[in-house]
Amino acid sequence: MSNHMRLLEMYPGFRAKLFALEAQTAKYRSSGLKVGDLPIATIKVVVNVVYKIESQNVSDAQIRSQIAALNKDFRATNPDRSKTPAPFKGLVTDPRISFVLDRITRTKTTRASFTDDNGVKKTSTGGIAPVDTKKFLNLWVCALGGGLLGYAQFPGGPKSTDGVVLHYRAFGTSGTAQSPYDKGRSATHEIGHYLNLRHIWGDTPDCSGSDNVADTPNAAGPNFGKPKFPSVTCNNGPNGDMFVNYMDYVDDAAMFMFTTQQVARMRATLDGPRRSLW
Ligand SMILES: [Zn+2]
Repeated sequence: MSNHMRLLEMYPGFRAKLFALEAQTAKYRSSGLKVGDLPIATIKVVVNVVYKIESQNVSDAQIRSQIAALNKDFRATNPDRSKTPAPFKGLVTDPRISFVLDRITRTKTTRASFTDDNGVKKTSTGGIAPVDTKKFLNLWVCALGGGLLGYAQFPGGPKSTDGVVLHYRAFGTSGTAQSPYDKGRSATHEIGHYLNLRHIWGDTPDCSGSDNVADTPNAAGPNFGKPKFPSVTCNNGPNGDMFVNYMDYVDDAAMFMFTTQQVARMRATLDGPRRSLW
């Protein structure tokens, strides 16, 4: 969110584009479409590996493990969705989005780690520029400091920084991926943002914020680790927070689902500012 706020300050048109997308999303939602009838949206992915030491230079196999994980989570075929608490099960929805790896770039850097300032996306700051962000989802894999697992750019922002950055320790399901972030779900979460999803608690430290999604319960703040059901906040009992949602902050092994209305938001984005991706 700090990266997002900085971009909103730097690019005055970004805020207006997000407002326009919100209006388009509302229209899309009220159009009576059935998410089950939507065509599969296939997104081509470029993975930009930026490494200082060889152990950060993640393997092709690890990159493929990340793409495979995305193809389960964004088609609701992840086997662990069966662990979704019963009251939320009916809301588990297939976004009908798939990912294909187009190419991998590898860049050696002198920087020990990056922050959320988009430095990894430019040669002059030790990173590498993206490949055509209108056509490709660019992922950068690098060392991130400050406990950051990843960050994403919302739709409508500058092209030169568009995409998702992931810590090499929270990428894919093999190699350098480290428990509890070894099921590829940092990428699932960040691509959710890239497709205009907000955090499940609405990014306020109380009950006043909203994720602009009607079928996720209002929640006070993030959940961490592997919470026990139910986690009640904001008078949302008996079922409590939907902490099993990919847009919460729980461990990879505790998140399993997107809801119908979250899928509608992502698909409105794919029919709007991100239409050229597929
Ligand atoms: Zn997030």
